[in-house]
Amino acid sequence: MAKRMRYQFSSKPEKCPQCGSSHVADILYGLQVFHKVEKDIEAGRIVLGGCIVDNNNPEWQCVECKTNIYHKKDWFSRSGILADKH
Ligand SMILES: [Zn+2]
Repeated sequence: MAKRMRYQFSSKPEKCPQCGSSHVADILYGLQVFHKVEKDIEAGRIVLGGCIVDNNNPEWQCVECKTNIYHKKDWFSRSGILADKH
């Protein structure tokens, strides 16, 4: 249980794979969107992930146990997003 698992899903899971909670939030990156999602953050639907975005960031996070959940992507067909760094 204490082992660090890397959970990967091809779409947002309805339940946390770690604790089974249904409170799985989207992680948003970039602070400019904060005012738009403040209510979602308060409601626990969204977690802010900060400004640093790379291809290894989790997409979702369990509100209960803070487990990060990664989006399983096909990096071979989506290599274009790597050019988004600045
Ligand atoms: Zn959880």
